Amino acid sequence: MTTLVIRNIAELTTNDPSIGDESSLGRLRDAAMVVDDQQVLWVGPNATAPDADESLDANGCAVIPGFVDSHTHLVFAGERSDEFEARMAGVHYDGGGIARTVDSTRAASIDDLREGTTKRFAELTAGGVTTVEIKSGYELTVEGEVRDLRLAEEFTTETTWLGAHVVPPEYRKDREGYIEVLTSSMLDACAPLAKWADVFCDRGAFSIDEARFILESARAKGLAPRLHANQLAHSGAIALGVELDCASVDHCTYLDDRDIDILSASATVATLLPGAEFSTRSPFPSARRLLDAGVTVALATDCNPGSSYVTSMAFVIALAVREMAMSVDEALWASTKGGALALRRDDVGHLGLGARADFAVLDGSRAAHLAYRPGGNVVAQTFRATFTATDVST
Ligand SMILES: [Zn+2]
Repeated sequence: MTTLVIRNIAELTTNDPSIGDESSLGRLRDAAMVVDDQQVLWVGPNATAPDADESLDANGCAVIPGFVDSHTHLVFAGERSDEFEARMAGVHYDGGGIARTVDSTRAASIDDLREGTTKRFAELTAGGVTTVEIKSGYELTVEGEVRDLRLAEEFTTETTWLGAHVVPPEYRKDREGYIEVLTSSMLDACAPLAKWADVFCDRGAFSIDEARFILESARAKGLAPRLHANQLAHSGAIALGVELDCASVDHCTYLDDRDIDILSASATVATLLPGAEFSTRSPFPSARRLLDAGVTVALATDCNPGSSYVTSMAFVIALAVREMAMSVDEALWASTKGGALALRRDDVGHLGLGARADFAVLDGSRAAHLAYRPGGNVVAQTFRATFTATDVST
């Protein structure tokens, strides 16, 4: 196995509090790191770096753990830029455009779907993402959801069945009939292909009781629950997510004090998706209130064609810092370690010894450049440990 030493790192963020400055960022200055093609073998001062088979000079730049993008809808066809333009002109977002993407995705060939997903995956990777969660949810038929999850499996082990995205048009007058399909034939077909089950629990999508029934049915088939919660309204979905021990409740655009109390006493991560607030001109959630209450916060892109066509975690960090009162370090941690916790993973999101060798070299001496230079290419190089499709832990 080939080893690689990265020398002359001005600022190394490990997210391992036992390393460096002993903060949650585990930060070392004037550092070096040794990896093989699987894991981190050594971190320490540049002056004492051991030799390795190969050497890379970071040339005074910063190194961070690879981003863990814990919420994407990467498998889709078509685009909805007209809706974005309308929203910017004052039209309110209500999630109603999802059916348009369902139409275009159902009509797409597998080759076209793969090509689009590959392009978006490459954009994420170039921007420093090394672990990505991918949801189904744009076909909403048994065969279609299976097709989309099989495609997602080509890119990640973090696959999520989102058959309960919305009720598809053909079931609009028979939601009970769709929920019956969801929790029987669709779940049976999709469970072997997914690690997670997700439900869009919100106004215009699925109710609290429907979401509980769908997620409990999925859990009985071995899928772990997560939830789209409180994007459009105070729906009670946060409490449901904690009740079901969801790894993460995502969006949290609308939060009240009770939601924050419930989250702070739980192991459920609050995943914030500021690309969605940006793209729908919605109020940003208060990350500050969550952090001050001790809630674990993650940041993700929510890449989808309707409400957040975003493939840059640096842009997400910039929004979190500028619009949600997070410090740069809090946003960096939330998009790496926070994302890992939202996927209940301890092997990614940090660069402690034994962590996966997933990291990014920045074009800049400090991680702060991620938010300080929005729109620029701050991630210079992304390193990803050899991808293996054998570690799906359902
Ligand atoms: Zn989403």
